[in-house]
Amino acid sequence: MLSVAEATARILSAFDRLGTEQVGLENALGRVLAMPVSARLTQPAKAVSAMDGYAVRSADMAGAEIRLRLIAEVAAGHAPERPVGAGETARIFTGAMLPDGADSIVIQENSTKDGDVVILADPRFRSGQHVRAAGLDFSAGDIGLQPGRCLTARDIGLAAAMNWPWLTVTRRPRVAVLSTGDELVNPGEALSPGKIMASNGFTVAALAAVSGADVLNLGNAPDQPERLSAMIDSAKGCDLLVTIGGASVGDYDLVQKILKEKGVELDFWKIAMRPGKPVMFGRLGDLNVIGLPGNPTSALVTSVLFVRPAIARMLGRSDEAVSEYATLGRDLPANDQRQDYLRASLTRDAEHRLIATPFKLQDSSMIRLLAEADALVVRPPHAPAAAAGSRVEIIRLGGGVLNL
Ligand code: AMP
Ligand code: MG
Repeated sequence: MLSVAEATARILSAFDRLGTEQVGLENALGRVLAMPVSARLTQPAKAVSAMDGYAVRSADMAGAEIRLRLIAEVAAGHAPERPVGAGETARIFTGAMLPDGADSIVIQENSTKDGDVVILADPRFRSGQHVRAAGLDFSAGDIGLQPGRCLTARDIGLAAAMNWPWLTVTRRPRVAVLSTGDELVNPGEALSPGKIMASNGFTVAALAAVSGADVLNLGNAPDQPERLSAMIDSAKGCDLLVTIGGASVGDYDLVQKILKEKGVELDFWKIAMRPGKPVMFGRLGDLNVIGLPGNPTSALVTSVLFVRPAIARMLGRSDEAVSEYATLGRDLPANDQRQDYLRASLTRDAEHRLIATPFKLQDSSMIRLLAEADALVVRPPHAPAAAAGSRVEIIRLGGGVLNL
């Protein structure tokens, strides 16, 4: 059986970055940048004041009490009308351009006025104070954002500041999700004996959407070859088809059989992991197909491990997932040859260390426990018994909203 690492590598190698499109800044949140964003101006363009106060020449500032003639006022957004000469000052406000001649600001709290004379008392005065130099933030041509970034609110603000009204981003991968099983009915539909609510399709569709995909939820296919075959055909034109259920080799597990009849190039169909052993990967013409097992936990864990990275690869995301570790909250027995993913809660101890406590019950059919879990604890094949307090790798499951 294939290891998780090898299965991941094989899946990733089948996907390339998709094409690009342009979006306005209002629609750029969470999209993946496909161009470098370089500054199209210098910010600030000229030295500006960081405070409300008076623009002065530091050569004038010797002594305890300085009297300067008020000759002008400069507000943000307006060019100074004249330079500040020796013995002169200009009223200035935050963000306003420093008049020629002036090099420092005295804040208004350190001033009093006597007609057109301003009296300044600033015992800690130093030359250049409260001035933002030209280019303090960035200079024209500086790179602000690199391609591959999933755009945050702050990134969008930077792009705007660098004078880009629109950005080139990777187009969203089209991901079709097809659930299979005679037992499935949708929430709201009538139940009859033996039927269950179809939940996985909603879980996987939501996970794919939050990972950046444009999701086509194809619904539930019965365990009936012609219907299943027709529904698989409707994924044509998508970048990825994710099937759920029917992936192993039971009499009613038809997904692999039908895909084979359609000429799928099967890459693998089993991974040494728990939950989620029967994961299938193949190519049907242009369409990559990932077949997930039907148990709700298996479907979610394998989506996190294989569908999410495939979408990230198609988007050209540069922020590859990094391993994260926590302190184990309970003793664990030695593991067998399969890589285990244990649902766990995350808490903080008195020293604010992250504690991952695997649930006692790990039945992969249990949807409520899955919703309660904060993370998966990763147990490598043949891992020895681990005592509470030892370090374990975790994968956060997250709240499901855009991870920004
Ligand atoms: P399968 O992989 O088709 O053998 O399904 C394994 C288990 O998962 C069975 O108990 C199915 O009833 C259940 N199952 C399959 N698909 C879904 C689904 N979309 N939602 C909830 N449970 C499912
Ligand atoms: Mg089934």
